[in-house]
Amino acid sequence: MKRIIVTGGSGFIGSNLVDFLISKKYYVINIDNLTYSSNNFAHKNKDKSKYKFFKLDINNKKKLKSIIKRYKPKAIFNLAAETHVDRSIDGPKNFIRTNILGTFNLLEVLRELKKIKIKPKLVHISTDEVYGDIKQNKKSDENYRYEPSSPYSASKASADHLVKSYIRTYKLNAVISNCCNNYGPYQFPEKLLPKMISNIFNKKELPIYGKGKNSREWIHVKDHCSALFMLYLKGKSGENYNIGSGITLSNKNLIKRLLKISRMLNINLHKKTKIVFVKDRPGHDFRYALNSKKIKKNLKWKPNINLNKGLLETMKWYLENRDFLKKISKKLYNKRLGLKL
Ligand code: NAD
Repeated sequence: MKRIIVTGGSGFIGSNLVDFLISKKYYVINIDNLTYSSNNFAHKNKDKSKYKFFKLDINNKKKLKSIIKRYKPKAIFNLAAETHVDRSIDGPKNFIRTNILGTFNLLEVLRELKKIKIKPKLVHISTDEVYGDIKQNKKSDENYRYEPSSPYSASKASADHLVKSYIRTYKLNAVISNCCNNYGPYQFPEKLLPKMISNIFNKKELPIYGKGKNSREWIHVKDHCSALFMLYLKGKSGENYNIGSGITLSNKNLIKRLLKISRMLNINLHKKTKIVFVKDRPGHDFRYALNSKKIKKNLKWKPNINLNKGLLETMKWYLENRDFLKKISKKLYNKRLGLKL
């Protein structure tokens, strides 16, 4: 069996990616230090002949190197990260440690292993947030300047620059993906969609930042996984690839759709369960929108999941897996973050 390493494989996208890669007949090694946003829900009964887990910080050079040396994977998908913008506003240090220093550590390990001919392809997962606020009617393509606004997006941008420098200087085999907002199963409920779903289930208000007009592009996590797989198979080293669905909508309209879907699923909406507007996030980017023509044209990838259908499936998943939300400590997602300045 061909082997692949996923860092951050116990997080939202990582959980889905591990399953996707196993379905493609890869042996998957998940390296994750199990921070608050991780879950063991997805992997608790995994077949040991297809999956191996290491609880490890990507900053641990010795152990990271020995795992890569031992398994000689075809590729490493780097998803290990601190990911919540509001938390990066309250305390950026962990973001610098994992997103920048952790990526740097991984790059150093790969640089050293290259000398002994161990050369997995690195698929480094970045975000559309590195492009910053995108003006109305514009879209960011891969040549768009990086102009991050939050400590989170700045840490992601820094890591991307490091990856690029290692490709150029040390001829590392690596690609970078810049994906838009993901939705789907296994997402920690501090993020917009699962938070709203959890509040709908718990008969609570639906708080949206500002006036709800901030606009995001949304992709189903399975479409993101298929794009990442394509980058591993065919992505050209040194290149960035945007991964988007082309579907952008305001936060308010997104939540309205979710409410409509809840009614379709006969979920009893409590009278308290209404959109309320709350104080905006400092430095909140108004709009992200990607031009994803490159991956579509060069790698023949396209998203397959329509937003309404994807949201319906996602809502059903959280309904059928109520334990997922129940087992995650509410202490970690019930309080407002990102306002301490
Ligand atoms: P997540 O917070 O759900 O998962 C992150 C995972 O990384 C967790 O399991 C955590 O335990 C692990 N981790 C954190 N620090 C680590 C460390 N030092 N060593 C090892 N593991 C560590 O995040 P996610 O939403 O799944 O995002 C994954 C990646 O995709 C991130 O790089 C993020 O920037 C990127 N991304 C996310 C989205 C999105 O909409 N969620 C969009 C574009 C890009």
